[in-house]
Amino acid sequence: MIDLKFPKTKVYNYLKYREAISLNLNHMMKYEKSKEEISSMVNVVYDCFRDKLFAQDMYYFSTLNDLELFLIGTGFYPEELISKAVKHEFDHAKKAEDLGYKARNYSAALLYDHILNEPTFAAQISFDKSTEMSYSDWKQIADAPENPSRLDIIFR
Ligand SMILES: [Zn+2]
Repeated sequence: MIDLKFPKTKVYNYLKYREAISLNLNHMMKYEKSKEEISSMVNVVYDCFRDKLFAQDMYYFSTLNDLELFLIGTGFYPEELISKAVKHEFDHAKKAEDLGYKARNYSAALLYDHILNEPTFAAQISFDKSTEMSYSDWKQIADAPENPSRLDIIFR
């Protein structure tokens, strides 16, 4: 059993961070910017949020099943919420696989909702930085889940 601490990263800051990356990424992929330019954008955005994102809240897994077992094991979240999130990431992963891409990992950010005063989380699928992915493939992967998130629809 892992030594799990109550999340310190605020959901508000994490979502702002992810949104800033997605907005920039959408624009940069549309205009076919290089991987180097994209990677430098990600670093610049990360720098803006550096003091608000806590490494102790980020967990990485090689399979979705491991991610799910971890989230259940935290005891923080209702299982229904977890299975909805896992299904959502599965839809991204399935579409990616159909298009010939393989996920590098799945991650969970454990977050603190200071309005509701309770823990929450955000799951994410990631691809290798070196993966060449066309804008249209990227959009299809983002749009694959039945209930796309606010971040997913940025790519529409
Ligand atoms: Zn999504």
